[in-house]
Amino acid sequence: MAEQITPQEEGKKSLNFIEQMVEKDLAEGRNGGRVQTRFPPEPNGYLHIGHAKAICLDFGIARKYGGTCNLRFDDTNPIKEDVEYVDSIQEDIQWLGFRWENIYYASDYFGQLFEFALWLIDHGHAYVDEQTAEAIAEQKGSPTVAGRESPFRNRPAAESRDLFLRMNSGEFDEGAMTLRAKIDMASPNMHFRDPIIYRIIKTPHHRTGRTWNVYPMYDFAHGQSDYFEGVTHSLCTLEFEVHRPLYDYFIDRLIESPFKTEDNYRTRQTEFNRLNLTYTVMSKRKLLQLVKEHRVNGWDDPRMPTICGYRRRGFTPASIRNFVDMIGYTKYDGVIDVALLEHAVREDLNATARRVAAVLHPVKLIITNYPEGQVEMMESVNNPENLAEGTHPIAFTRELYIEREDFMEEAPKNYYRLTPGQEVRLRCAYIVRCTGCKKNEAGEVTEVYAEYDPQTKTGMPESNRRVKGTIHWVSTSHALQAEVRLYDRLFTVENPMEEKDRDFLELLNPNSLEVLTDCYVEEDLATARPYDHFQFQRVGYFNLDPDSRDGRLIFNRTVSLRDTWSKKKNR
Ligand code: ATP
Ligand code: MG
Repeated sequence: MAEQITPQEEGKKSLNFIEQMVEKDLAEGRNGGRVQTRFPPEPNGYLHIGHAKAICLDFGIARKYGGTCNLRFDDTNPIKEDVEYVDSIQEDIQWLGFRWENIYYASDYFGQLFEFALWLIDHGHAYVDEQTAEAIAEQKGSPTVAGRESPFRNRPAAESRDLFLRMNSGEFDEGAMTLRAKIDMASPNMHFRDPIIYRIIKTPHHRTGRTWNVYPMYDFAHGQSDYFEGVTHSLCTLEFEVHRPLYDYFIDRLIESPFKTEDNYRTRQTEFNRLNLTYTVMSKRKLLQLVKEHRVNGWDDPRMPTICGYRRRGFTPASIRNFVDMIGYTKYDGVIDVALLEHAVREDLNATARRVAAVLHPVKLIITNYPEGQVEMMESVNNPENLAEGTHPIAFTRELYIEREDFMEEAPKNYYRLTPGQEVRLRCAYIVRCTGCKKNEAGEVTEVYAEYDPQTKTGMPESNRRVKGTIHWVSTSHALQAEVRLYDRLFTVENPMEEKDRDFLELLNPNSLEVLTDCYVEEDLATARPYDHFQFQRVGYFNLDPDSRDGRLIFNRTVSLRDTWSKKKNR
């Protein structure tokens, strides 16, 4: 299933600011010329396309500079985490085409972190605070007003040590007390105002079970985990910029402590802009809510911005990587037009997807002068972008299905499809002239009639006769019935998170899924396998949904053929 990155993909990039930094570090011999990165997801949800951006960078930098990238699960909060997420994260990274060197867990370091916390206590850098979280928050002050010191701040180290050990042995309830770093209650950086570094949690952990009753906070686990592993470049999104001084502070303490690992080694955090996309939300918490409240059909619903959602929808790993490449890495947050992502998958599928015929809104076309019972096998080109891919056969018969919109009883002048008296080409078959139609009592067209010209079969000398329109078709006796799922934007507004006074659920698009159950696809698709990509001629790109089984075919529309991105660009 996985795919490798081609040298072409690798070579065409110009250096971004992170690559420039790494090259400078290498030139200066920093960390002995070693490059080591990590991708550090918290296993509290499925990965989304924003994570794909971080993955491409973390793994891409390591590969480009001959370094290594590890996968590290930041599993410090057992309340929200689960092995289901651990497994899906691994699957998604591999599907994107990346390989980690090792898998680590922040929970691997719980022992070291606990010992380091005791060392901080013993050296006057941490204390147990018996106040509630609310009281602590209330004393924090504001960026312009200094905070107030906790009454427990100057308690003897031995007392804090004793309490911290008892916190961990399970003696106290959740929320009864916390361990705080003793730094500076007047610092202009709010994260320095004696941050909480450990809290009591009694929920069993998915890996360590009930071993621990205290768990480190993100800021106390992340940088130290980087350090224990030997990470050289810790890349993360811009919201962590304000955490960086604290990241450095704890590394400074580590280097002073017996937990120091090697000389002249230092991990450094660098931030880049996160990916935001129009018409969707990019937060695991919000996506979890959509799943839990059944607003979508699971994490891999093709409308979701998750990696598994895009996979199911028919996006390819290369299209996602190319998209990430096009948007690049900067120091400024913004919102990317989802049309660019659609453009990327269209480009990829245009080059690779097999062309087939599918009729989504069928009406019968009867070729009245074509012999009843006759079957001709026509040759359908697999991909006009790459003729080496050859052709596949498609059966032509007297009765066909065509798209309802390819016939009009009374048509305007510039309508080049079927209308009485007008000729069109039936793709890879004959030119036919429309002779009329039949309607039911409600006035709906039930059958369209035409006569074919036997001299105009594609490939014959006569076949070059000029007709303005070409339409696709499938044989009523050979085509397979299929369900087709059409997807639209998940939200009705470009930036759902900007609408501060409305709950994001109110902004969901009620018409984001349209299911067509009476579609017909050519018989060649009987052998299609889940996730196979196709271009339905004149309609769009589709893939076979994994729900398809026992001969029941279900297709997802990945994207339509119309490229709104190129249009916008050329305006
Ligand atoms: P969310 O806010 O969606 O819950 P998160 O930041 O909590 O995401 P983590 O599992 O902590 O998710 O993220 C793992 C890595 O992915 C981090 O380094 C984070 O910076 C990066 N990341 C998360 N969201 C994005 C995004 N939208 N764009 C780029 N990188 C992201
Ligand atoms: Mg996070």
